[in-house]
Parts: sequence; C-alpha cells; structure tokens
Amino acid sequence: MKELLKSFEKYREYRCVSCGCPMELKKMDITYLGSVFSVDLPACPSCGMAFVPEELATGKMLEVEKILEDK
Ligand SMILES: [Zn+2]
Repeated sequence: MKELLKSFEKYREYRCVSCGCPMELKKMDITYLGSVFSVDLPACPSCGMAFVPEELATGKMLEVEKILEDK
C-alpha cells in the first residue's frame, strides 16, 4: 500500500470545495475489484467531505491491481 498512499499525498494541499478548509488525509475503506482497501484519502476536517482522487473516480487504480496480482 505504500505507493498507493504516496500517490494521494499530492492531494493533501487541496482545499474543500464547499468550505475552503485545507484537506487532511483520513483513513477510509474503498472497494476495488471486489476487495476492500484502507487508504488515506483527503477529507475536509470541517464538514467531512471527502475528495475522491481522479485515480479512484476513473478506476485507474493500476497500483491496486498490481497489489492484487502480487498476492
Ligand atoms: Zn469542508
């Protein structure tokens, strides 16, 4: 999961679209390819809104696929 976490680090500087607060990385469970992963996603500490990185939204989770294949 190390590389996956690193890829989300760049979103740490994003700001919440609704209240403008700086995002904080928060541990969340995502489901991908039938497996559940715990990843740190950027979320607003004020209103709780999570930012879904483009990699997740578009399903281009190559790193996750790689992890699955390694199992
Ligand atoms: Zn917010």
